[in-house]
Amino acid sequence: MQIGIDLGGTKTEAIALASAAVVASPRRIPTPPDYAATLDAIAGLVAELESETGRSGTVGIGIPGVVAHATGLVKNANSTWLIGRPLQADLEARLARPVRVANDANCFALSEAIDGAGRGFETVFGVILGTGVGGGIAIRQRIHEGPNQVAGEWGHNQLPWMTGEERAAAPPCYCGKWGCVETFLSGPGFELDHVRLGGARRSSPDIVRGAAAADTLALLAMRRYEDRLARGLAAVVNLLDPDAIVLGGGMSNLPSLPAAVSALLPRYVFSDTVLTEVLLNAHGDSSGVRGAAWLWPAG
Ligand SMILES: [Zn+2]
Repeated sequence: MQIGIDLGGTKTEAIALASAAVVASPRRIPTPPDYAATLDAIAGLVAELESETGRSGTVGIGIPGVVAHATGLVKNANSTWLIGRPLQADLEARLARPVRVANDANCFALSEAIDGAGRGFETVFGVILGTGVGGGIAIRQRIHEGPNQVAGEWGHNQLPWMTGEERAAAPPCYCGKWGCVETFLSGPGFELDHVRLGGARRSSPDIVRGAAAADTLALLAMRRYEDRLARGLAAVVNLLDPDAIVLGGGMSNLPSLPAAVSALLPRYVFSDTVLTEVLLNAHGDSSGVRGAAWLWPAG
């Protein structure tokens, strides 16, 4: 049995898989904003799943950050109480078994590559379009992480082929640079762009509803979003040339997005034909926790 835990900033989910099937009802609890309590919560979830199924499991954890190879300490986490903590070692001691920890976007890519929308494709680029923009790479159903553990972090590349207007309006990014893909393609970036066009401050789902009702500004914001997404992903295709790109995160719920981006990619990719498939994820919000479970291969 494979236990997966998705340790999010506000909620923690747990699942148990066996032969690719869910064998215990998935759990979801609020993430305690405290390190010791987080360890307790994870240990509690593992104990619950094992007692419900009467089986022991491998444990994989997805986190909003990474455990640095060099130090064994968590870095780049927006859940600040994890930063600088030996999360993997502490969990291994607590659970008395080896534990695998990976970035949550990498877990998403792995889940979709194994039995989601990216199944059957050799190289899968998993894209998170949410309050932040991230990504992960799965090659032959294994995460490609890289020595700096930043493979797939396209959200902090600069938006390619910026127009003069975009350059003038490009917002600063929390990472210290400006004009990052994330500042345009995150949910807040999309909402800000609608305001830039002269629209009211509206939530992303509300702008999408507006576009469906043929609201001019909402439609314009959508077209700009699609074109920017195509530009950002064209740079990924030029570098990685994935077989499939799988879209995830709250903004991926825009129904027109995969087709619109597929149609736009040939404008920007250095190839006259683009065979990369752009797909909506298959497992939705569950991909993070499923990918965490898949950090250990099925036994
Ligand atoms: Zn940035």
